[in-house]
Amino acid sequence: MKRGMVYLVGAGPGDAELISLKGKRALQQAEVVIFDRLINPFLLTYAKEDAKLIYCGKQPCRHTLRQEDIQKEILIHARKGKTVVRLKGGDPAVFGRVGEEAELLAEHHIPYEIVPGITAGIAATAYAGVPLTHRVHSDSFAVVTGHGSKKSGTPEINWQALSKGVKTIVFYMGIKHLKTIAAELMSRGKVSETPVLVVQWGTYSKQRTIEGTLANIARKVAQAGVTNPAIIVVGEVVALRSKLAWYDNRRLSGRSILIPGPEKKHLKLIDQVKQQGADVFAFPLLTERATADRHQLAGLLGSNKPRELVFLSAESVQLCLQAFGEHKLDFRHVHSPIYAVDPSVRQTLRSVGIQAELLEDSRLELPVFIGKEAEVESMRHQYERPAEELILTKQQVSQKNIEAFQRLIREQHVNALLITSRVEAMQLLTFLTLSGIEAEICNGLQLICKGKDVKLLLESQKIAVQSLIEGDELVGLLDIFDIEERIVMEG
Ligand code: SAH
Repeated sequence: MKRGMVYLVGAGPGDAELISLKGKRALQQAEVVIFDRLINPFLLTYAKEDAKLIYCGKQPCRHTLRQEDIQKEILIHARKGKTVVRLKGGDPAVFGRVGEEAELLAEHHIPYEIVPGITAGIAATAYAGVPLTHRVHSDSFAVVTGHGSKKSGTPEINWQALSKGVKTIVFYMGIKHLKTIAAELMSRGKVSETPVLVVQWGTYSKQRTIEGTLANIARKVAQAGVTNPAIIVVGEVVALRSKLAWYDNRRLSGRSILIPGPEKKHLKLIDQVKQQGADVFAFPLLTERATADRHQLAGLLGSNKPRELVFLSAESVQLCLQAFGEHKLDFRHVHSPIYAVDPSVRQTLRSVGIQAELLEDSRLELPVFIGKEAEVESMRHQYERPAEELILTKQQVSQKNIEAFQRLIREQHVNALLITSRVEAMQLLTFLTLSGIEAEICNGLQLICKGKDVKLLLESQKIAVQSLIEGDELVGLLDIFDIEERIVMEG
């Protein structure tokens, strides 16, 4: 029997790009992923199509019991010979209970690896423009829990040693006891003007920072309504933020856009938008399953019918040729004229030695539209004369995409949804239907469409569209967001 393997992986603090390559690879190989509340849900899209995902968001009041359940869950799957990833926020060994989990695995002789992650205290301070050490201001830092094991939760710390011995102190899980923490530090020798920074949701686009001093930070944080997850940083280095802040003062800081389409199709836009400070999550909501059977493909051979084969995308060319190969058919026996829906598809056809005409300037006898299901459906709406269809692949929905999509929206990691083509609009609609997610989930988001036809399509399905882009996507986005900001400021 296959031996189980467990990876205890640090997912990093929030920004999805802060997971390690090793962690990402483990995730891509996992058959079971047991994940925490604090991980960025986008990371789940790296899992396999059929990976089993188990959420174990810890509820504060059921701490101990839940940890036992999680450990049981890890054991069950590892014993079945599965590759399990236990995905934890930040670093698994910093207030992440990796010690207990590894101990259990060692006891049961189950092989495991610990994959470090970037811990919130280091990452959130870096994104806030605060270096934990500094040649002039800080020669040491400590990472401390702000939540004790007593019933009251007040931290049990050697305050004297901490106040006197360490220059920069980072508290985790300390928001609830901020007042006590500040009071203890002041009473053991830290001056009341010592700068303090609180960073909530560090490295996420929704990162929030509150600055103050030991004397006033508790009041400021209460006023701002900041809750966990947040870290508290105490020390002179905090003052450097006024000079070094870089993350939260860019043109699109605080914006987070979900694009329901493959990352590789939107690379340029993603790059540009990220440079302006926004977060972008792009992933296809649906995956493809080959559907064309031998009989259908063989039907394309010969030229006994007057008809034209129309390829609807570059991918459809590859998929069709691949299907021919898999069914041991020879494309040279196709004698119908070949058409391409646009110049890039024609180029793809050329690159594999097939000369095609463009669809736009042609009147066809009886086109056979060849493509993936969404492409063919989209064509069906546009082409008003008789046509045949060859659907090469159909879409299906996986648990990982449902989890990622729902959590990104429900946990408010995204505030805008960008749809740039009819195909992606159709995919969104199909995804909602197949997964049983209500279209209302989009209500809290700013829905941005490129092109009037995309807008009309979504609106016909009762999805409200707030903004329309007609030309360049980046220019459009900057326009939309800047105008909105002006309205907010004027209001
Ligand atoms: N293993 C994690 C810490 C888990 S304890 C790590 O290494 O980061 C949970 C606490 O971590 C939260 O209460 C909060 O204090 C801190 N935390 C986790 N993610 C955070 C984030 N993105 N921003 C600010 N604090 C965070």
